[in-house]
Amino acid sequence: VFEYAPAPESRDVVDIRGSYGLFIDGEFVDGHGEPFKSINPADESVLADVARADETDVDRAVKAARRAFDTVWGPMPGRERAKYLYRIARIVQERARELAVLESIDNGKPIRESRDVDVPLVAAHFFYYAGWADKLRYAGFGDDPRPVGVAGQVIPWNFPLLMLAWKIAPALACGNTVVLKPAETTPLTALLFADICRQAELPPGVVNIVTGAGETGRALVAHEGIDKVAFTGSTEVGRQIARVVAGTRKRLTLELGGKAANIVYDDAALDQAVEGIVNGIFFNQGHVCCAGSRLLVQEPVADELLERLKARMATLRVGDPLDKNTDVGAINSAAQLAKIRELSEAGEREGAERWSPPCELPAQGYWFAPTVFTGVAQSHRIAREEIFGPVLSVLTFRTPEEAVTKANNTPYGLSAGIWTEKGSLSLWTAQRLRAGVIWANTFNKFDPASPFGGYKESGFGREGGRHGLEGYLDV
Ligand code: NAD
Repeated sequence: VFEYAPAPESRDVVDIRGSYGLFIDGEFVDGHGEPFKSINPADESVLADVARADETDVDRAVKAARRAFDTVWGPMPGRERAKYLYRIARIVQERARELAVLESIDNGKPIRESRDVDVPLVAAHFFYYAGWADKLRYAGFGDDPRPVGVAGQVIPWNFPLLMLAWKIAPALACGNTVVLKPAETTPLTALLFADICRQAELPPGVVNIVTGAGETGRALVAHEGIDKVAFTGSTEVGRQIARVVAGTRKRLTLELGGKAANIVYDDAALDQAVEGIVNGIFFNQGHVCCAGSRLLVQEPVADELLERLKARMATLRVGDPLDKNTDVGAINSAAQLAKIRELSEAGEREGAERWSPPCELPAQGYWFAPTVFTGVAQSHRIAREEIFGPVLSVLTFRTPEEAVTKANNTPYGLSAGIWTEKGSLSLWTAQRLRAGVIWANTFNKFDPASPFGGYKESGFGREGGRHGLEGYLDV
């Protein structure tokens, strides 16, 4: 259904200079707040000035969304809504280069990832949910499922476009209208997406984008005209939002942090496991909520696995996100870099052993070498707290029971990985793990048809698949 986008040929494909407005009621408009700058994390250059939405701008956006819901989008038959979603999906494919380059410049992620993973998955989400728009009545949601109304959606910076797609595609398919706030360090591709909505002739007000920092998000989730809040981000901010929403009529779904265990049994195909571990923690610089940040390896193969892992890590290329050979790009912001450094230093202080392959990091920009900690105890901060960077903590275990106990010893419950050639052991383990997503002999595989979401402090509600529709329907 969808093809991978061709490789961008040069860094001049997208001209992003200038200033960017808010997208409200089908138009780009100025904001009333002080504009802010979006920075290229790979060299700290200023990419663009971006409008900041204050409460009055948020209010305008919510009112536009309400009008569009009441007059056009809510009453529109599902098959008509589907046409718009298919059109958006196709334009995403047509403009894939532009989207991929802009995403890599604004976020710091390698172009190979934005080109081969993020952007194709964005198109896939719109194709997938387009297919649902005219089938809601007979899909087990009751006789007459209705859209909830206006959705206020707040997303993080690690997958700016993909998180936008996870939020907007199911909402629109069900007949809701949206006001979405991208993260302050990565606002640009959401605005390019707004341009795609215009190109698709989506009726004004159906999708509104308000840029800004936490205050803009706060104003959005607190607005009385919002019927449903969908948030992806840190557990801490998720808690704040839950407090704001409590006692209102708003519905809420939260996709929060994680501290996933990647469990390697002694019979696993070790080279395959090494690829999965590398992908699990170094993909997207480890800025992944479901990153396999805790490696649990069975004692008999621990030394051998670590040796192979270190050899593989030595081949990773860290550097220019726009270079097609880059494996690990830039850390998204100075603040995130400081957090990764702080937790890594805590790891050393608490007695774990730190190792990185020799690698020369660029002088400008925000960089952190792929890092592995061995001799990690469950009580160490690096075993408990989400680092959200390219840092792996290694623990060992003797029995499957011990693996499960250690894997579940976390307040989070978003994802986990299991590596074994024994199907029965894989199932035995999966049934005992408290995690919303479990991969066996693979990691970080995503599909729009598959629900994604967490247990415990990783949040509630599911995105993706048929389950992803539930948060956007009244039945
Ligand atoms: P964050 O919580 O700091 O910010 C997320 C978004 O919330 C941003 O747009 C921010 O501006 C906004 N925000 C901040 N304060 C707010 C408030 N009081 N009210 C409303 N909005 C507010 O998170 P982050 O640093 O951008 O992202 C990293 C976190 O996101 C990690 O913890 C990661 O695990 C999580 N994450 C989870 C998933 C998932 O699906 N579970 C996916 C990606 C990221």
